[in-house]
Amino acid sequence: MTLNQIDMESLVKAVVDQIYAITNYSNEEFGTFSTVDQAVEAAYIAQKKIMTLTLENRQTLIDAMREGVLKNEDLLAEMAVKESGMGRVPDKILKNRLAAQKTPGTENLKTEAFTGDRGLTIIEMAPYGVIGSITPVTNPVATIINNSISMIAAGNSVVFCVHPNARAASLKAIEILNRAILAAGGPGNLLCSIKEPSLKAVEELMAHPKINLLSATGGPGVVRAVLSSGKKAIGAGAGNPPAVVDETADIEKAARDIIAGCSFDNNLPCIAEKSIIVVGSVADKLIYNMKKLGAVLVEGQNLKELEKLVLIEKLGEGHGKIFAPNKQYVGKNARCILEKIGINVSNDPPVIIAEVDASHPFVVEELMMPVLPIVQVKNIDEAIVIAVKVEHGNRHTATMHSKNVDNMTRLAKAIQTTIFVKNAPSYAGIGFGGEGFTTFTIAGPTGEGLTSARTFTRQRRCVLVDAFSIV
Ligand code: NAD
Repeated sequence: MTLNQIDMESLVKAVVDQIYAITNYSNEEFGTFSTVDQAVEAAYIAQKKIMTLTLENRQTLIDAMREGVLKNEDLLAEMAVKESGMGRVPDKILKNRLAAQKTPGTENLKTEAFTGDRGLTIIEMAPYGVIGSITPVTNPVATIINNSISMIAAGNSVVFCVHPNARAASLKAIEILNRAILAAGGPGNLLCSIKEPSLKAVEELMAHPKINLLSATGGPGVVRAVLSSGKKAIGAGAGNPPAVVDETADIEKAARDIIAGCSFDNNLPCIAEKSIIVVGSVADKLIYNMKKLGAVLVEGQNLKELEKLVLIEKLGEGHGKIFAPNKQYVGKNARCILEKIGINVSNDPPVIIAEVDASHPFVVEELMMPVLPIVQVKNIDEAIVIAVKVEHGNRHTATMHSKNVDNMTRLAKAIQTTIFVKNAPSYAGIGFGGEGFTTFTIAGPTGEGLTSARTFTRQRRCVLVDAFSIV
């Protein structure tokens, strides 16, 4: 091969790379396919290839994926906000970075061993094969980064069906991750996806015989769907996390922490504070401190206007009408919502607060916008009863601000959430400003809790009789 030929080849490759980078479309090496069948077949072949690599090789791929994301964290955040019309770019950058840095890799897989007179038995964490992963619009990119690292660290390949309203950003994330894997010497198409995601595509994916495990990150509808699929499914469903504040709390800190957690990415995270339940004797002090931090208290006619704007009435699953969040305002800035009800502000308020009772739709519904209802209660007993009620048995997340260990223990026992954060913003529960690894797939309904590589494995036992026990 002459020098000119080599130059021409690298030039063509650079141009092709540039075209893919500009158009957001990936070719099949980077995981995007026209049909579910094509995507699953490609992922099936890729999974066979990853099984030929050593665990050390697999970890090299994970390291490259982390690096690939960190190099593109801004682009991915900007694309997600622009396309979905939800959230805040700086917060999405933090989410992408958190997913890249704090999702565990292969070190998360631990072998169990039994030794004795009859030899050695080991239980190893083996891959399922090809996983079908359905992802949300609220954390589109961070969920893909997080699931990809966890699922590949466990030796699986993945076919994603992404939310149609975050399609381009999600496909771009998948492409970037695949490119990183390829550059690190791994197989193409470990992460696959369908070019045009739809509910029909989700159904096809769920029914495909080569899909061994399903993982759904989203609301109640998709969790119900995967659980009815007849396959093993991990359901990471809706949350409605209350923040309980009792009279012993450091109120200034509670105000700061609740605002930080609630306003993060305009309240899109499923773990974000969705209501405050505060003991009456400290309620005024809490509201005063929240206002000092820029929260805007909405009352009277303004509150009525706010209800009309952000809620819609719809038919419930039983009889009668229920309220639901108006999707137009999900993940929007507080300022934008305030302007729509005629309140003009010169700054960028983190949240809108409103005093309501416990049966108000702002409390009952998962709004996913920076509108934070505050419910006053007589004492901690009443706070616990109401917090349990508004969490709806989602087993998701709750936070509490208190210095009374007994009160905190009582709420934690009563509410049974997967994540319980004490005296910090909710995001401390996923390792942001708190100890522990991160995840963006929190499986409350099916019980796996904060998912990581080991969640996406099946146990295999290997037995050697009458040997290899050296005691
Ligand atoms: P969504 O349920 O509308 O969509 C999630 C995904 O499921 C999308 O890809 C969508 O196309 C698909 N989908 C929706 N309904 C379906 C059905 N009936 N059958 C098959 N597929 C279906 O949710 P969203 O608006 O994208 O995300 C917000 C919701 O997800 C909130 O309820 C939030 O609490 C929850 N969430 C939970 C977690 C968690 O880890 N537990 C993480 C993020 C979001």
